[in-house]
Amino acid sequence: MIQTQGLCFQYAMGPALVFADVLVPQASVLLLSGPSGSGKSTWLALVAGLVAPSSGHLTVANQDLRALNKIASDAWRAKAIGFLPQKLHLSAALTVQQNMALAYWASGNAENPQRIAETLAALNVLELTDRLPAQLSGGQAQRVALARALLLKPQVILADEPTASLDDDAALDAVRLLLTQARLHAATLVIASHDARVATLIAQDVVAQKSLQRLMLIHH
Ligand code: ADP
Ligand code: MG
Repeated sequence: MIQTQGLCFQYAMGPALVFADVLVPQASVLLLSGPSGSGKSTWLALVAGLVAPSSGHLTVANQDLRALNKIASDAWRAKAIGFLPQKLHLSAALTVQQNMALAYWASGNAENPQRIAETLAALNVLELTDRLPAQLSGGQAQRVALARALLLKPQVILADEPTASLDDDAALDAVRLLLTQARLHAATLVIASHDARVATLIAQDVVAQKSLQRLMLIHH
């Protein structure tokens, strides 16, 4: 679940962003939309505990984020949040397998090669395990990054513009994977996107449609 109350964020040299309150129950879907620059990525960073709000507060995956210091926040994030960033941040020098293993390092959990294999297989990319990120197509890299986000069975999945650089087939694939994987793990899913295809694709998913909420940000 995600609950925000009176959330504001002020960039030092930038705009003051004010966000409407949301209560997103566990296992439901939030579509965060709004034009470029309206604060979608900032909202995700707040919910992931990467930045602290200027005012207001947040409860995410049953955790009051004010109660966490920096170290506790990093450890909490590694376990509770599956982040699919817009730029995928796969380490170029590491294989797919090694990139997955990094998620265990971040969480402090022991590496589980069986779980890595099972997660890559679930996303149909197990055969890519020894490749470097530069040897993957855009859609394949997206699947690997999603596998990494899902590895520790997070309660909350945050996807930032997951279709931005994808053609229609790969965009359909990405949205379907996010919806089905979130459902499989009863995770709360947030998709931040200003891509009209995403709203259409979610609307075609009968189950997701039932729990869907929308938060539309406006340009500041
Ligand atoms: P979106 O993801 O919807 O495109 P962002 O959250 O990235 O929006 O940005 C929201 C606003 O904050 C924009 O006006 C952007 O220029 C500004 N902004 C983002 N990052 C910074 C930063 N590090 N410093 C100052 N302003 C920023
Ligand atoms: Mg953004």
